[in-house]
Amino acid sequence: MKETVFETYSAEETAALGEKIGACAAPGDVYTLTGELGAGKTTFTQGIARGLGIRESVSSPTFTIVQVYEEGRMPFYHFDVYRIGDIEEMEEIGYEDYFYGNGLCMIEWANRIEELLPGKRKDITIEKNPAIGFDYRKIFVREAES
Ligand code: ADP
Ligand code: MG
Repeated sequence: MKETVFETYSAEETAALGEKIGACAAPGDVYTLTGELGAGKTTFTQGIARGLGIRESVSSPTFTIVQVYEEGRMPFYHFDVYRIGDIEEMEEIGYEDYFYGNGLCMIEWANRIEELLPGKRKDITIEKNPAIGFDYRKIFVREAES
């Protein structure tokens, strides 16, 4: 298992890390993003969007499973599958076109659709550690086993 660990000490640093990943992304890349509320998932995702050259603001896709941003150098597919009740809902939106498409996929709450996830993907986890500092985050990027 290939894993890289980063440490950040501010929201800006986390966004900058996301921006680097966005800047290096290739079409078809799939990332999952995990972390408790307030961990920095949206902050990180905003950085990714910036790295792709997306200027419009990115938040969590509250009312839709996937939010599509087309203005960057490749499409950005931002999934939040928290509210998914049934795998069939993923089929209805044609998830395969996104997961195996030409954009960058970022999937929040991916554990809810584990069986649908492509084997080739990277799993990002953001952890807080209040003992180290309120603004401290440890960010793991793991290559999934396929
Ligand atoms: P989530 O989407 O995981 O709920 P958000 O990105 O919306 O989290 O919120 C993270 C909050 O934590 C923001 O208020 C941000 O300013 C703050 N924060 C403090 N330090 C960091 C850090 N190192 N990385 C990311 N966010 C941080
Ligand atoms: Mg969020």
